[in-house]
Amino acid sequence: MRIAFLGLGNMGSHMARNLHAAGYSVTCYDIVQEAVDAAARDGLATAASGAEAVREAQIVITMFPAGEHVLAAYQDGLLESAPQDTLFIDSSTISVDHAVEAARLVTQAGHRALDAPVSGGTVGAAQGTLTIMVGGNPENFTQAKPLFDVMGRNIVHAGDTGSGQAVKLVNNMALAINTIAAAEAFSLGENLGLDPQVLYEVMSSSAAQSWSITTNCPVPGPVPEAPASRDFRPGFATALMTKDLGLAKAAIESTGTPASFGMAAYEAYTEFNTGDNSGKDFSAIIKTKQKKG
Ligand code: NAD
Repeated sequence: MRIAFLGLGNMGSHMARNLHAAGYSVTCYDIVQEAVDAAARDGLATAASGAEAVREAQIVITMFPAGEHVLAAYQDGLLESAPQDTLFIDSSTISVDHAVEAARLVTQAGHRALDAPVSGGTVGAAQGTLTIMVGGNPENFTQAKPLFDVMGRNIVHAGDTGSGQAVKLVNNMALAINTIAAAEAFSLGENLGLDPQVLYEVMSSSAAQSWSITTNCPVPGPVPEAPASRDFRPGFATALMTKDLGLAKAAIESTGTPASFGMAAYEAYTEFNTGDNSGKDFSAIIKTKQKKG
């Protein structure tokens, strides 16, 4: 199976290398030349442009920052240059509307489309343990499944076009709300004179338990591997969570869902996402919940 992989950033560079290591023929490209050179040093085939990378591909995987990049690249040579009936898999996190529009362009050009956003961060990308949420028709999913199995561990066919993106934004909205809930609980507990370790022992095994407490505890100490225990080095950066909450907000508004906590999480992260905070793990939002001085 000949694969073109475009977008060799923090995530895509690992995903492309894992496919190459599993024995697939991977031709890759990024608009940043250093990323292409680094892939070439690791033995991957590279191309001088996106159009060249997809010329002989059967499957094209894109891993770009946002929906605008995907739509622009598709219309700027990729769809035109790929052989007929190529399967285009977009793994970037983009809005449901952009995913539906991308699939429409792909189909109109005589190809096939899947949206397949991922979660699991750069560690999951490097280790091939991502969760991959896939939207599109079942035959296309079946064709791509062996590749997903190389890049990830938990592979879910979510439904029709756009469903992968829908699952991703719903999941991240709940994650943001859980993280703010954990941050407020630990701050209130501290102000009531509680030891965070005691609070952790109760909350990590009681009805309030969540990943935001057990794995990504927002206070330093109880979970030594958590970003809070290393000055909030990510993890999952605040800037990316804020972007994903923007997608959730658009979906809340377009569906008329009364999701006031999701909207509040969007507002809280948008306000917090400035300066140094943008690069910190998103659990650093606890700083906005602590008393000053
Ligand atoms: P990144 O910015 O590190 O990488 C994106 C890459 O795409 C860059 O190298 C950029 O040069 C390249 N690119 C942009 N337009 C291009 C084009 N037309 N042709 C070729 N290359 C092009 O971003 P990332 O952290 O790798 O994330 C990629 C996507 O995955 C985003 O949508 C992000 O929200 C999502 N995501 C990221 C994480 C994470 O922890 N980093 C986790 C889950 C999902």
